[in-house]
Parts: sequence; structure tokens; C-alpha cells
Amino acid sequence: MLSYQNLVKSLVDEAIYKRGLKIYLEGFVSTPRNMILDNWRLYSVRDVHDVYFVKTPVLHLALASDKFDLAGSSVEESVSCSCSYFLEYGICKHIVAVFADLDNEFSKSYSQNEASTENLMEAIFASDTVKKHRKWLETIDQLLSRDTTNYYYLDEISRTLKNQEDIHQPFFKELAKIIEGVIGDYSREKRLVRIISESILVNRDSWLDFWREYFTAIDVDNQIRLYISLWKIYWVTSKNKEEFLEVFISPDQCIKENVFNELHGEFIEDKMVWIEYAFASRYYDWLIDNMDRLDPKLLIRIAEIFPEKREEIEIKIMNQIKQWSDFLPSGDYEMVVDVFKTWSQKLGKSDYYMDSINYFRANHRLKKKLLSQLD
Ligand SMILES: [Zn+2]
Repeated sequence: MLSYQNLVKSLVDEAIYKRGLKIYLEGFVSTPRNMILDNWRLYSVRDVHDVYFVKTPVLHLALASDKFDLAGSSVEESVSCSCSYFLEYGICKHIVAVFADLDNEFSKSYSQNEASTENLMEAIFASDTVKKHRKWLETIDQLLSRDTTNYYYLDEISRTLKNQEDIHQPFFKELAKIIEGVIGDYSREKRLVRIISESILVNRDSWLDFWREYFTAIDVDNQIRLYISLWKIYWVTSKNKEEFLEVFISPDQCIKENVFNELHGEFIEDKMVWIEYAFASRYYDWLIDNMDRLDPKLLIRIAEIFPEKREEIEIKIMNQIKQWSDFLPSGDYEMVVDVFKTWSQKLGKSDYYMDSINYFRANHRLKKKLLSQLD
């Protein structure tokens, strides 16, 4: 807000300023007359013997707000008084008096204006948000109604959500109503799976909690699709894994089995993709049935989960290490050392562990560096 008094105070010496205020306080500034030019006014100011005329623009209306810092120069350029002091020296006490009057006139309406402007902005903003939410809901409704591969608008929604989550709670509330109508409709659920995946891919933090409660409500086939897709997202986006991992525990065993088999088939060469899924989802059937195909470190993880199978598993590890030891390429020690370390850390130094270490020592007497690391 522009303060006329502060403005004029910076342009005159103190004596002039005080005299001007005194004139104003004594009530010698007339009611202004509007001039022909917009936002220009003519004041008459009574001084001891005479009346002087001050012409001034109403600066806060005549001056664009981005030029307020030039207000001082604009006063010197435009304001005038009919007194002789003004002709000789410029800004006079009459102008100071007029500016004090201007402040008095506008300061109250200023604050009123400011308040109402603020409310207005708030109202505009709120209705903008409502409009935006309506558009978002329409977008998602469209994505649910017909097959598409274009998720551009959904991505945009996901990105916007990232920045200002709290103001979008009404959107989620409305969306929940739409989604409840989708549950049980197989083909719409199928599209919902795509929407869930695409949105979580772009902005997991905002979407995951909202979608989660629908995961187990949808049809089994669609759940399988969903979890396969989510696992791939999990696999490529590695941040904050823990929270995301919980999602894979909840579905039924038969769904996990299907997801596992699908991943197994699709990523046959990329073994860790589906093995890690088995651990994450706690679907262990395949792992237990195929322990002979697993390397010692995976076996150690399984032994941790199933203490009752520990002995059986340690024997397997021991046999693998003996075999491994017989064919160890020279220099390839890191993995052996790593397995022994993990083994003793996770399962302790059992008889099978000691037996394996001793077998190793006997077999590789000359590999002093390796043997020293095993102590
Ligand atoms: Zn004057």
C-alpha cells in the first residue's frame, strides 16, 4: 500500500512537512474536485491570508502498482501548487497537507479493499481448485470408460498432487465414490489397474495409500495383473522400498502363486526379479520345492525364515560349498568369503559351518590370503 504521508515526507525538509501537517490538522484542506483527467484532483488549501490550489493525481490509482517505487519522482513530475514557494522550490507545505488528507481518505478503504481483495482471491482460488478437481475426476472417469495408452493427463494430475497434497483431499473423497462404482465391473477394474499402476509410477507417495484399500477388493485376475505391474514398478524405482513392500504381503496365496509364476515366466533369465518377489510377498512354496537350485546366500535367507528346515538347509549349503571348493577358479575368493561371513552372521557357526570351513582349508592350503579372511 502506498502511504502518501511517507512519500511526501521523503521529498521535503522537516519544517515544511510539519507545517503541512499542521494545515491539514487545522482543517484547511477543502473537499477535492475531480478534474477532467481520470484520477486527477484539484484541492484548495487555505493558508493564513490566501487560498492556494493544489493539483495532484490520485497516485495509488493513477500509478501502476509495479511503479510504486517511482512514486516520489512522479510526485515531483506532476503535482503542483499555486503558491510562490512551489514555483521557486518545488513541493510545498500545501502539498504536504493535501497528501495527509489523501492518506486519511484512502487508508481506511485501503484496508477494506485489501481485505476484500484477499477474500476475493481466496474465493477465486477455491473455485479454481474445485474446477481443477472436477476436470481431474472427468479425466479419470474417461480413463475408466475406454481403453487407452495415453496417460498424459493422469501424469499431470500425479505431478500436481506431489506439490500440494492437503488442498486436494476433496478430490480424493470424490474419487473414492467413483472407484466404489468400479469395483465388481470387470472391464472397468482392468482399466483401473492401469490407472493405479501409472499413477503410482509417477507419484507413489500421494497415490499408494489411496489405492491400497482397493487392491484386494478387485477381481482375482485383475489383482494378479495389478501385483505384477506393481512389482515391476517396485523393481525399477528403488526409493523408500520398505513401505511399498508391505503391499505385496496382503493378497491370497493363490494370487501370489500366480504373480510369481507370471514373473518367473517373463523374467526367466533375470532370476532375482521373481526370487525377490517370493521373499517380499512371503510366497515360499517355490523356494522350498527348489532349494537345490538356489545358491548358498538364498538358502541362508530361507533358513532364517524357517528354523525347522535349518539343518536340512545347512547340509545343502555345506554340500554346495564343498563342490564349489573343488572347482574354485583361482582368485575368485570374494564370493566364498562373503558366503561364510553371511552364514556365521545369520545362522551362527554350526557343525556344518565348521565342517565346510575345514574342508575349504584342507583343499586350499596354499591360498593363505583367502584362509586368513575366514577366521
Ligand atoms: Zn503551496
